[in-house]
Amino acid sequence: MKSKISFLFILFFLCLSFHEVSSHIYPQEIKLIGKAEPGGVLIGEAKNIKSVLLDGDEIGFDERGYFLVGFDRDAKGTHTIRVIFNDGESEIKKITLAKRKYVIQRLKIAEKYVTPPSSELPRIEEEAERMKEARKKIGIIDTAFYASGFVRPVEGGRITSIFGSQRILNGVPKSPHNGIDFAVDEGTPVLAAADGIVTIAGNNFYYNGNFVLLDHGQGLNTVYLHMSKLNVQTGTKVKKGEIIGWVGSTGRATGSHLHWGAQWFTKRIDPMVLLNLKF
Ligand SMILES: [Zn+2]
Repeated sequence: MKSKISFLFILFFLCLSFHEVSSHIYPQEIKLIGKAEPGGVLIGEAKNIKSVLLDGDEIGFDERGYFLVGFDRDAKGTHTIRVIFNDGESEIKKITLAKRKYVIQRLKIAEKYVTPPSSELPRIEEEAERMKEARKKIGIIDTAFYASGFVRPVEGGRITSIFGSQRILNGVPKSPHNGIDFAVDEGTPVLAAADGIVTIAGNNFYYNGNFVLLDHGQGLNTVYLHMSKLNVQTGTKVKKGEIIGWVGSTGRATGSHLHWGAQWFTKRIDPMVLLNLKF
């Protein structure tokens, strides 16, 4: 009888210690920063990652264990991030998006930019095609350049239009404003908001004017529109805070300003959330 009891005790402690050991060898912890909201991003960090899935689809991660998910302007509901570790175990985070309201903004701009003249349509189509081709490169780089953190792309300047605003141009409802507008003087330096690679540096586009699209890795990208002059070319590697061009009013612009936009693949992201990330 006595030996049976001690056997049970030993078994009990063995179980305890095994449990202890396994949880120490594999610390399956997922750290998430950011805000779960429409237009928001969440940056994750974990060790020993084998794969990461958002709602069942694999997403990128780098050797430091960083990964990123973004939620579109109109995203809603509950989403699942699943990290599968090298030992085959997995951990799940359920993300329920907060609700978000957007303002309505009425603007008067030159009529040719609301309804472009038919003579400009081939050019607009060709530029859209070039943009589409450039965007195909987004998501190829798994390095989390965004881990450099973000800075405001211009110093000073009033914000004249925020992300997500429902726009009514000359009385005609148009697609929502996909970025932030900073009213700043022509010639103000435009800075790379984070480390990245120039996916496309375009000149004289009908809508964008002179612009730069930066790839920050794992699908996250930012655009800088209407510049007077560019300081980089397609393929240039940039560091956070580096001058990529100067503010102007080229393309569809009512005056000198910087339009700063962000996307995670095709999901529209509020650039302001990038500035609010605490790494
Ligand atoms: Zn804008």
